[in-house]
Amino acid sequence: MNPIFAGLPVSIFEEMSALAREHQAINLGQGFPDDPGPEDVRRKAAEAVVSGWNQYPPMLGLPELRQAVARHYLDHQGLEVDAAREVMVTSGATEALAGALLALVEPGDEVVLFEPAYDAYLPLVRRAGGVPRFVKLAPPDWRFTAAQLAEAITPRTRVVLLNNPQNPSGAVYGPAELQLLADATAGTRAIVVADEVWEHVVFDGRRHTSVLAIPDLRARSVKIGSAGKIFCLTGWKVGFVVAAPELLKVLAKAHQYITFTTPPNLQSAVAYGLGKPAAHFEAMREDLQARRDRLARGLGAAGLAALPTEGTYFLNVDLAPMGLRDDAAFCRRLVAEAGVAAIPVSAFYADASMRSVVRFCFAKNDATLDGAVARLSEAAPRLAR
Ligand code: PMP
Ligand code: GLN
Repeated sequence: MNPIFAGLPVSIFEEMSALAREHQAINLGQGFPDDPGPEDVRRKAAEAVVSGWNQYPPMLGLPELRQAVARHYLDHQGLEVDAAREVMVTSGATEALAGALLALVEPGDEVVLFEPAYDAYLPLVRRAGGVPRFVKLAPPDWRFTAAQLAEAITPRTRVVLLNNPQNPSGAVYGPAELQLLADATAGTRAIVVADEVWEHVVFDGRRHTSVLAIPDLRARSVKIGSAGKIFCLTGWKVGFVVAAPELLKVLAKAHQYITFTTPPNLQSAVAYGLGKPAAHFEAMREDLQARRDRLARGLGAAGLAALPTEGTYFLNVDLAPMGLRDDAAFCRRLVAEAGVAAIPVSAFYADASMRSVVRFCFAKNDATLDGAVARLSEAAPRLAR
């Protein structure tokens, strides 16, 4: 068996969700909303299953969805995208990531990852034969510097994989930081793969900036999106890749032998959803922001001060000021003794350099959040010792 996968534990999300079930805990671990998602979009999918096309759609995706993706990114991010030559539909962002790494990386190539790195990245990089180089980010603001990039990017760098907005940190990188990346990779053979699945989930009036909006990066970047995150329908594995035609051609070769296509009914529902008015996405952000603030207040009252979150569904608590340095042990006690599941952020680091941060998902209804806060308030004094 291949030792890279054979040697892996089950993902931290599976592990914590299983513990949550075992202990009948409130699950603020794995990131999925309580809300069932927009009903009109779900109805479109149901109609398409009953009355629509259920055979193989085109390999690159339904033309109506590829056009909707291009239109959506023009309307929301000001990006000029050629639907026919620059957009491909995948079975979730996860497939897009796997395909991009398989298509771009040759054994021995270096891949720059920012830690905390979403859990799928490192095993996929290694399986593609890539050699990871890490840029380490730290709380409270998780920023990176030009000096860190200069150290990580070498003539052997093939891919720089950036997650923006970033899971689990909740950091959102703007034009100035993306320009640092453009400058650091200028003149190299590096392709920037930007996992932008959280692009619509940004708070406090922020706007998402895509790598494709940075002129120096437009031709040498791959943008990855996910309908799961855009519509709070995380089980819908419908993703999109946007890249310059020469790059997209290669990515399509990987896609055709990984999944080949993505369910056409979900594709047509997503095409419909992407055309919803801007007010829909604004309301989603406002709603999630209110949930972020509700959980932050509750955590604070329980003595667990939340770090700032600029985007995503997640709030983090740094345990270091409480003198605690083992996030995984804390999460195991939290789920068993307090009945609340969370995610230890050390799971997103390859080494043991960061072991004091715990991630909580706030994309939940008020009763779930308040219930979790009540349990945390009761248990925190005990757990802090
Ligand atoms: N990338 C990041 C950063 C994510 O947070 C997630 C899911 N939470 C994914 C990729 C996976 O997206 P999908 O479900 O579309 O495969
Ligand atoms: N991306 C989700 C999270 O961060 C989990 C996805 C998964 O379970 N693989 O919570």
